[in-house]
Amino acid sequence: MRTYTHYIDGEHQNGTSGRTSDVFNPSTGEKSALVPLASKSEVEQAIAVAEAAFPAWSATSIVARSRIMTRFTALLYKHQPELAKLVSLEHGKVIEDAMGSVLRGIEVAEFACGIPHLQKGEFSDNVSSGIDIYSMRKPLGVVAGITPFNFPAMIPLWMASMAIITGNTIVLKPSEKDPGCPMRIAELFIEAGGPKGVFNVVNGDKEAVDTLLHDSRIKAVSFVGSTPIAQYVYETATKNGKRCQAMGGAKNHMLILPDADIEGVANALMGAAYGSAGERCMAISVGVCVGDAVADKLIEILTPRVKALKIGASLDTGLEMGPLVTKEHRKKVMDYIQMGVDEGADLVVDGRSFSLKGHENGYFLGGSLFDHVKSNMRTYKEEIFGPVLQLMRVQSFEEGMNLASDHQYGNGTSIFTRSGAAARTYADKVEVGMVGINVPIPVPLAFHSFGGWKASAFGDHNQFGMEAMRFYTKVKTVTARWPENTIAADFSIPTLK
Ligand code: NAD
Repeated sequence: MRTYTHYIDGEHQNGTSGRTSDVFNPSTGEKSALVPLASKSEVEQAIAVAEAAFPAWSATSIVARSRIMTRFTALLYKHQPELAKLVSLEHGKVIEDAMGSVLRGIEVAEFACGIPHLQKGEFSDNVSSGIDIYSMRKPLGVVAGITPFNFPAMIPLWMASMAIITGNTIVLKPSEKDPGCPMRIAELFIEAGGPKGVFNVVNGDKEAVDTLLHDSRIKAVSFVGSTPIAQYVYETATKNGKRCQAMGGAKNHMLILPDADIEGVANALMGAAYGSAGERCMAISVGVCVGDAVADKLIEILTPRVKALKIGASLDTGLEMGPLVTKEHRKKVMDYIQMGVDEGADLVVDGRSFSLKGHENGYFLGGSLFDHVKSNMRTYKEEIFGPVLQLMRVQSFEEGMNLASDHQYGNGTSIFTRSGAAARTYADKVEVGMVGINVPIPVPLAFHSFGGWKASAFGDHNQFGMEAMRFYTKVKTVTARWPENTIAADFSIPTLK
């Protein structure tokens, strides 16, 4: 069985805390590795290494940094199948989906290669007699990235690519549930010619996170995970004077209008609700049907399809869904299904009895489908994060839009309709950060940016895109004059002349 290390200063370092966590293969339920949980002093050592690497890295020319990022991107493409296999083995995503998730991370590294253009400052010529003003975007120093289990390649790449290319050094603390991919990605950065100490990975749990949040050498923290932890990270990091962006949980609604292509809606819902076993922060977990006719028709189409979902071991091909990440998470989702029944929702398809022959110890769950879900139910108010789709019935567009707007989470939403006016109003008015129009999972590409509203995100800047460039840099503005004559004394505040 494999024992993971930390990856500090371009070297593998054995854990010394004496604390470890088990990593499992969710398809078999077998323990596949041990991951060390870093002590405070191990994290402090990684921060010291990153701090020592910062002066040289931030002084490296922007073109040289971009070339390293270009080689890193090429290596990521070359190793995409290997990275996807790691994702699939430790997370449980089916392999085709894992390949796609790695690609969405590589796209951010690819975007980062354009940094000589992206990190340009501004220049105003002759703002007053002989005076120019220009601004520069400077890196912050050592930054921390803390990532969730559900995208072990993509989210570390969102953070590391943008933090590093802007001239910072990083200490990444990935999820202890699937640490294999982030470690491999950091190795590839060194293979691409990245200097040691720029990209460090410490494995760990709350102790490691708390050390990052309290250490004054960490200038910014980027976090993605569940809302209670996101809120804690945001509050602690900002209280300690750090810049912080903390993305949290989600409950994403799809509003389905009576004029929508109902077959297309059913196809979209199948992928968006059950893909990656619903363990996506942009999964559609609520279908809001305007009118009973829409809901009745959807139940008729979806019921046999949910029952027939192709579920199997994550490395097998041609599947639609793999297992959930851990035994505990599977139990949590099953408890929510029972809660939904107890609350009075109609459980049309119950996935709890699903078992995969030959993989009886894997963390599998069939797809579940609820109808007649109501907004006062706890199973509606909270995030389930599993292969469970909840249908709700409303009588009007406004009633449906208000559901999404009034929900505590505001990560993503979509509307399915043939009406341009309805779609435009929805995109304009709904209180949610990312909107899809006839697109079920509206995850923006790397040159836009990713972020929800309300309890789905704390802080001011989104992930990747220009938002990340701004998050990882601070502005310095220079006012310059090169006078030919002696400067006269002037006791009033400078004004335009
Ligand atoms: P999590 O909050 O349990 O863990 C996230 C990170 O925080 C991990 O690195 C973990 O080690 C650390 N952590 C856990 N408990 C901690 C504590 N008490 N103190 C300090 N650190 C702690 O989240 P998860 O289960 O790994 O991921 C699933 C969640 O992430 C879901 O809620 C999902 O919606 C959310 N998510 C959000 C986005 C987004 O962009 N909004 C994207 C992906 C996942």
